[in-house]
Amino acid sequence: MAASPMVNPGDQPVWVNTDNCKACDICVSVCPSGVLGMKYESTSTLGAMISIDHPEACIGCNECELTCPDFAIYVADKQELKAAGLSFAKLTDDAKARQEQIVANNYMSLSEQGVK
Ligand code: SF4
Ligand code: SF4
Repeated sequence: MAASPMVNPGDQPVWVNTDNCKACDICVSVCPSGVLGMKYESTSTLGAMISIDHPEACIGCNECELTCPDFAIYVADKQELKAAGLSFAKLTDDAKARQEQIVANNYMSLSEQGVK
């Protein structure tokens, strides 16, 4: 791994170091499970910030961590998550459909629909 990951805050399958996030949307575009989205944030770069809207749907595929150019998003180790009594989700049709909606919403969180 190119960078040492920030310490897992505890029981999260996926988490972000918002100091490093440049709001590029890449992680949102590669997530298969509709976990991520961008939220409008006037104080941050590009006026947006990554949001982990559905951590319970994270399947642990690592695509977000592998593609983030700024090493800002991290995925838990399966064993660490298991030690916390949790596990990654399975990819469901609902999650896939949500991801399609997020992509159609220009990678913005579905809670941001109609905002702008
Ligand atoms: S890929 Fe990295 S820098 Fe880009 S929005 Fe996601 S967390 Fe932020
Ligand atoms: S690990 Fe996979 S499912 Fe989880 S947030 Fe990252 S891209 Fe989405």
